[in-house]
Amino acid sequence: MLRYSFVVISIISALNFLLTDELFVQALLIICLVASLGIATIWPEPLPPPPSMDLWSEAPDEKEREMKVCSNCGKAVDQKWSMCPYCSKKV
Ligand SMILES: [Zn+2]
Repeated sequence: MLRYSFVVISIISALNFLLTDELFVQALLIICLVASLGIATIWPEPLPPPPSMDLWSEAPDEKEREMKVCSNCGKAVDQKWSMCPYCSKKV
């Protein structure tokens, strides 16, 4: 989209160049024409818009690890553990 506006600028400056007799204005228009045409051909396509901010809020909450309570000391122990890390007893 930005490129098209620069193409339009170059066309307008070319038209102005044909319509004016002032040497100074012609020189300015040549600069404008070259710059806008160069930008229009070199300018890369604009980057896609950044992702919306609420994208991350929809990420699922981290899955809670299944816990069980040690029968000896009462501390929470990971479900797949068979030995309590706190008191070294079987859970
Ligand atoms: Zn324990």
